[in-house]
Amino acid sequence: MSREARELVGLPAASGIAIGPAYVLRRERLVIPEFLLEPDEVEPEVARLAAAFEQTRARLEEIRSGLEPSGLVREVFEAQFLFLQDRALLSGTERSIREEFRNAEWALQRQFARIEEMFQAVSDPYIRERSSDVRLVVRRVLEALMGREPEGLANAPVGVVVVAEELSPADVAQITEGRVAGLVTEAGSRTSHVAIIARSLEIPAVVGAGVGLARSVADGLTVVLDGRSGRVLIDPEPDSIAEYEKRRADQAALLEQLLRYVHLPAETRDGFELRLLANVDLMEEIPSALRYGAQGIGLYRTEFMFMNRSDLPDEEEQFSEYRKLAEAIAPHGAVVRTLDLGGDKVTSGLSLPEEPNPALGLRGVRFSIAHPEIFRTQLRALCRASACGRLKLLLPMISGLAELDFALAELERVRAELSAEGTAFDPKLEVGVMIETPAAAMIADLIAPSVDFLSIGTNDLLQYTLAVDRANEHVAYLYEPLHPANLRLVQRVSQAARRAGISIGMCGEMAGDPLFIWVLMALGLDELSMTSSSIPMLKKMLRDSTLKEARGLLWELFELRGAREIHRRVEARMMRRFPREFEGLLPAG
Ligand code: PEP
Ligand code: MG
Repeated sequence: MSREARELVGLPAASGIAIGPAYVLRRERLVIPEFLLEPDEVEPEVARLAAAFEQTRARLEEIRSGLEPSGLVREVFEAQFLFLQDRALLSGTERSIREEFRNAEWALQRQFARIEEMFQAVSDPYIRERSSDVRLVVRRVLEALMGREPEGLANAPVGVVVVAEELSPADVAQITEGRVAGLVTEAGSRTSHVAIIARSLEIPAVVGAGVGLARSVADGLTVVLDGRSGRVLIDPEPDSIAEYEKRRADQAALLEQLLRYVHLPAETRDGFELRLLANVDLMEEIPSALRYGAQGIGLYRTEFMFMNRSDLPDEEEQFSEYRKLAEAIAPHGAVVRTLDLGGDKVTSGLSLPEEPNPALGLRGVRFSIAHPEIFRTQLRALCRASACGRLKLLLPMISGLAELDFALAELERVRAELSAEGTAFDPKLEVGVMIETPAAAMIADLIAPSVDFLSIGTNDLLQYTLAVDRANEHVAYLYEPLHPANLRLVQRVSQAARRAGISIGMCGEMAGDPLFIWVLMALGLDELSMTSSSIPMLKKMLRDSTLKEARGLLWELFELRGAREIHRRVEARMMRRFPREFEGLLPAG
């Protein structure tokens, strides 16, 4: 038999290496029958449709009964249930049967096409993505109408790598018991449900691996996937499998060893302490953040609460979310960032204006200035929740003092309101500013005296400083965290914070890269906030280092002229000092 060894690269969705036989969820194309009805066949056809809906509902109910009573998988699953109950789907189909005298399968397919068109017209990518959820629900109803067994993962053997065109929340709900080694889907993005759930369940996953994959992979062929690099190997040579098995074993051994450090202080051999915190977008990530030894949450992005829906969360809902956050992370604290919609983060709950350059437009605090009522509601909820645990407030995308003054004045106003009502809040709630624009970095000395802490957001700071769109793959090679301009800006901000006697942190992706740990500690940062799975490695490296040697390296870097040169110097030094750590981290050749 000829081998079909091949390699492709998709979007990394959940890190980790999976190796196992392919279990292909090959959804056969349903050939939708079309036939005309006699007038007396119409009502029986409507009844047949209702019965298929009922049968689908009962099947989904069965899956639901096996799920945890709360949690992300359940929430996502409930949403799928709602699609089934959506009147537009059922009554629109009934209407088609009655008015066009066509069979139920044809009418349902046609109604779905209309709904899908509406989804595609929405600018929010999250909402657009949901049309695939509806498609999978519709497919289940069609299968019921045509007397077919639904294809699913309920019988997937242990240890397989699931390969599918796309996976619905109902599919994913069936793999929550750790049976599946990994997931590869043709479609999807980092915000698709399968990606979100895979991350929270820590199942290695690659999405967006390319159309046609599921049809071209035979069941049982070995699949290797690296959820960190997005690489997928189909039926690789034994040498490659052995190499990835070794890599996986090394990573597991390294993680086991690293986890022994998580309860020890994040301190260098010469007594320098750095706080290591977690960036969290979903409540479900908190248990793993604590397991990895996070000393708190350094960035909670509230826009996710606004993105997954078509309405806005009110004060009560936000209050309850922030309170849950404070309670879940106690005795540590959480930094809650006010809404940073705009740029690449959009929602359909608000009609945002079309902008030619959204990254340079109405985003972050600028959006809050344009919609003070939304900002005030969020501030009220946050202040109230601050009475229930240790919360701090962080302002995104500040580019000048007027924006900061606006936000502080609004906060003062909210505090006065709450006092007058006799509502509890923490009067010492700390306020910080994200340093994400070169302007904010240059005036950090003017900002620092008015706030309690600064947090450098390198994801944006780099894009604005280097004029490189953070999401544009054509210029990704220019996105250099060790660019001398960035090093100088970070140093400047850190010195401004030090002079004002306030804390300085970093919460962009740069903070979680082990390559940069010496540079960042030498630049004077007090805390780093990152994807929580990076924390154990950083802590181990920190505990094996001295601040003195890190400073020595930084001085060398200021002598060098270009980002590449600096990168090479840092990489060489770190690999020499931490060979084992970097061996396990480098993606396979
Ligand atoms: C940043 O810009 O570095 C940051 C942490 O914010 P976000 O990635 O949410 O824009
Ligand atoms: Mg940002």
